[in-house]
Amino acid sequence: MRKIFLAATLCLIAALAAAGPAQATAPLPLVVIVATGGTIAEKTGAGTGAKPALSGESLVAAVPGLAKVARIKVINLVNIDSSQMTPAIWAKLSRKVNAELAKPEVAGAVVTHGTDTMAEGAWFLDLTLTSDKTVVFTGAMRDANDLSPDGPINIMDAVTLAVSPEAKGWGVVVCLNYYVNAARWAIKTQTTNVQTFTSGQKGYLGYILGEVVERWHPRPPRLTLPLPDKLPKVVFIADYAGSDGSLVRYAVDQGAKGLVVEGVGSGNVNAKTYKAILYALSKGVEVVITTRPVHGGAWPIYGDQGGGLVLQKAGCILSRDLDSFKSRLLLMLALASGADHQRLLQYFK
Ligand code: ASP
Repeated sequence: MRKIFLAATLCLIAALAAAGPAQATAPLPLVVIVATGGTIAEKTGAGTGAKPALSGESLVAAVPGLAKVARIKVINLVNIDSSQMTPAIWAKLSRKVNAELAKPEVAGAVVTHGTDTMAEGAWFLDLTLTSDKTVVFTGAMRDANDLSPDGPINIMDAVTLAVSPEAKGWGVVVCLNYYVNAARWAIKTQTTNVQTFTSGQKGYLGYILGEVVERWHPRPPRLTLPLPDKLPKVVFIADYAGSDGSLVRYAVDQGAKGLVVEGVGSGNVNAKTYKAILYALSKGVEVVITTRPVHGGAWPIYGDQGGGLVLQKAGCILSRDLDSFKSRLLLMLALASGADHQRLLQYFK
C-alpha cells in the first residue's frame, strides 16, 4: 500500500514539474459603472409608459460575459429619466467619477444615462474631469422589457472601450450602437431609433465591434474647467420669426448671469430680440449667440439690426461649433471659474 501511495505522489510531482511554474494570471482591469437611470434602466408597464425600474447591478447582471472583460464596481448615483437631469446632478456625477478614476486600480468608467440629455452630460464631464482615463457614456433606445433591448450590448461595448488601449486619450465619449462619438460633438438625432447618436460633419471618433475597437480620429482639444460649488443661472432662449425679445428681458430681470440666444442662419436675430440683447449687455450679462442649423456655427456676416456682425460688435460671443445646450454648460462653468469676456471669446472660438 505504502509503495502505491509513494508511486502516485512521485507521478503527481513529475506532472506538476512538467507543467512548469503556475502562471500567475494578472487580474482583469477594474471598471466603475455609475448608473443614473434612463431608458436602459426603465420598464414599460401597461398604460404607464417607461419608468425607471432597474439598479446598476441589474443592468450588469443582464450582460452575459461581462466578467470576462473587466471586474466591475457598480455605483447607483440616481435613477431618473434624463429629461429630469440637472447641472447640479452632473456636478455630483463628475465628482464621483473623478474620485473613482483617481484610484490607481480603476482603469476607466462607464456612465449609464438617459439618451435625452446624454450628450450634454458627457460634455459636462469632459469639461470638468481631471483624469485622462476613458469614460464612456452609454444608454439604450429600447427599454429593459422591450422585445430586443439594446442596453446589454451597449454596456458590453462601453466596458470594452473603457479598458481598450485604442480608446486611450479619447477622454469622455458617447457610445451606442457601435459608434463612438466625442462628447463635444455627440448629437442625439433620432427620437426612437437605436442609431441615434452621430457626430455630424465632425465625424465619429471610431467604431467598436465585439473586442475590436477601430480608431478613426483623435478627439478635439480638451478644455478643463473647475467644478464650482454653485453654478450661475444661465438661460437658453431660441429666437424665431416674430419674437419680441420679452423672454430675453425677463431672463435678465430674473437674475441670469449668462444668456445663450439661438439665432437663425449663421447667428442672426430679429430687431426686437437685438434690442433686448442690448439691454442684457447693458446689465453686464454675457450673451453667447448659437445657431439653429446643426453645422457651421455663428459668424459675423450680416449687418441687419440683429445680424451676426452687429451682434458681435455689440459685445456678443459667437459660438463657432457648440450647439445651444453645450454652449450653455460651457458658459455656466466658465462664468463660475471667473472667466472675463476675453477668456470667454477664446473658449467659444
Ligand atoms: N427619455 C429617456 C431618457 O433620456 C430616453 C432614453 O434613455 O433613451 O432617460
